[in-house]
Amino acid sequence: MIGEKPVRQDPNAHVIQDFFHIPPPPNDWIHNLNFGRLLNSEVEIAPAIINGKVVLDQVCFSISTSKNAVNNMRKLIEENPTRKNWTLSIADANKWCECEFCIKETPTDSFLRFVNTIAEKFPDKTFYILAYFATQPPPQTVRPKKNINVIITTIDVPKDDPIQYGNRAEAIKFRNNLKDWIDCVGASRIMVWDYFSNFRHLLMPFPIWHTIGPNIRYYANLGINKFIMQTDGGPGHEFSEFKTRLISELMINPWRNVNRLIVDILIEIYGVHSAPSILKYMQTIEKEQIYGPGWLMNWGDPKEYQCEYLSKSKLQIYKEILSQACTLSQSTPYEMQNKLALLPILYTCIELGLPDIVDYDLFKKICQEYYSKTGETITLEEQHWTPWHEYLHNKGYE
Ligand SMILES: [Zn+2]
Repeated sequence: MIGEKPVRQDPNAHVIQDFFHIPPPPNDWIHNLNFGRLLNSEVEIAPAIINGKVVLDQVCFSISTSKNAVNNMRKLIEENPTRKNWTLSIADANKWCECEFCIKETPTDSFLRFVNTIAEKFPDKTFYILAYFATQPPPQTVRPKKNINVIITTIDVPKDDPIQYGNRAEAIKFRNNLKDWIDCVGASRIMVWDYFSNFRHLLMPFPIWHTIGPNIRYYANLGINKFIMQTDGGPGHEFSEFKTRLISELMINPWRNVNRLIVDILIEIYGVHSAPSILKYMQTIEKEQIYGPGWLMNWGDPKEYQCEYLSKSKLQIYKEILSQACTLSQSTPYEMQNKLALLPILYTCIELGLPDIVDYDLFKKICQEYYSKTGETITLEEQHWTPWHEYLHNKGYE
């Protein structure tokens, strides 16, 4: 979910309406400074040079592509004259140019130098830049123009610890960069982009629910009130409705009692009889994951955790708990929702090829039943959007 919701209890919050109300051309709102798609147009730009080779994944911001960029920005603004907020963000790659010019300053400095040339031409517009991988640290010498806001992301931070308490290097680096950006532009010009899903396996159990409340509260306590809280909100995805609702409520009021809120939402979605089983499952799998040696990244694979919280014996325990939730909701309005809660476990068993407990027929039956009720296909991966039957076919199950 993008932007801000109006904070009913917080008079300081406001809504970035443009992100909602004026849809940009497809895919142009983020990573729009790709090579070959600089602001959605064909302009003469230089690709990055890494290890002496041309790399098309990222743009070299050292040379003067700004004239073309400014011209195209003007064209885009003329097409959407009432739109105030725009993004100027680097390509989706953890790479940066190493040409003779770029190595003289930090990536953020060279990027900001480029962005400033655009922002100063359109002082009545606000440009959101992406602090992402190479540009996550603030600049050392170049100062952002006053109409530049910053979207800082937690892309490389492990997700199983709340941001505030994570002691791994990436978490410490992120906190330091966030505070330095606040010193650089002020909290009111910062937007935080945090992630609460596994992009590669949208149905894989990704037990990070305990971090949602502390993270949003941490950002809010720093004075930040603009968020992109990305989760798997698609049909049938792991706790899709629960996570979307929890995040929404906490963006409205970060200081709510999170444990109480979680129980209320679970009852609302899964019914009063099944909610205790769902909660028991969440607490069980979170505990297993936290005490395991591995950590959660947004692109993890079930195989990485098959000796940890996704081991065969633990999957059997989760399956039993969630099956109980299904039984308790039979013939109630909550039946389908409880069946969907079981899908991630079935999916993981299929992914791991556990012949003893794979219940392919049940997986298929739930997907078909969901489709017959809603007409919506359950997708499994962010990148490929593979329908379940195609996926299973490729895996040799059908
Ligand atoms: Zn360069």
